Amino acid sequence: MIYTCDKCRFIFERTGQVDSCPDCGKPSIREATPNEREEFRKKKAAPENTNSVFLLEQHEKGLLDDTSFLKVFGKAKIFYSTPYGDHKDGGARLFALPASESTGYLPVFSSHERIKEFYENAGRCAYMIIEGTFLSFLETTRQINTAAPVKMGAVIDPGYFGVTVNADMLDTAISLMK
Ligand SMILES: [Zn+2]
Repeated sequence: MIYTCDKCRFIFERTGQVDSCPDCGKPSIREATPNEREEFRKKKAAPENTNSVFLLEQHEKGLLDDTSFLKVFGKAKIFYSTPYGDHKDGGARLFALPASESTGYLPVFSSHERIKEFYENAGRCAYMIIEGTFLSFLETTRQINTAAPVKMGAVIDPGYFGVTVNADMLDTAISLMK
């Protein structure tokens, strides 16, 4: 059966009994309407993240050098969350990866599956998934950096592609994408 979450509008399919949204964890789920089922089928047929994954693969194979990759990846759709969040142990923490010279990497993901897998392993709970372009993410990060003690860059699909943009490369990357 196909379900919709009234809280976060996530549409998903499950064969067995299900009582909470796999995206936001809230119990506010119901059977999808015919329109929502149609939307779900379309998305499934043409994954929205094809472009991001395709570009990452081209870069990994060496068919796109770093500069060419950044130029086009700025427009690619990615998923991310806020840097600070709740941990399963009840505390709040910064969910970032260490980078050189006491800077960090904020993770971004090419799909919902990857962001969920990453935060599941990191013990993060009750987080929001934000969708945007890689450029908008870098611009937000640059803005946060102006007041933050630890400067952040970005890592795309840690554990998979793991492409990084260091904190001190944000300006360069952003100007390439524009
Ligand atoms: Zn939900």
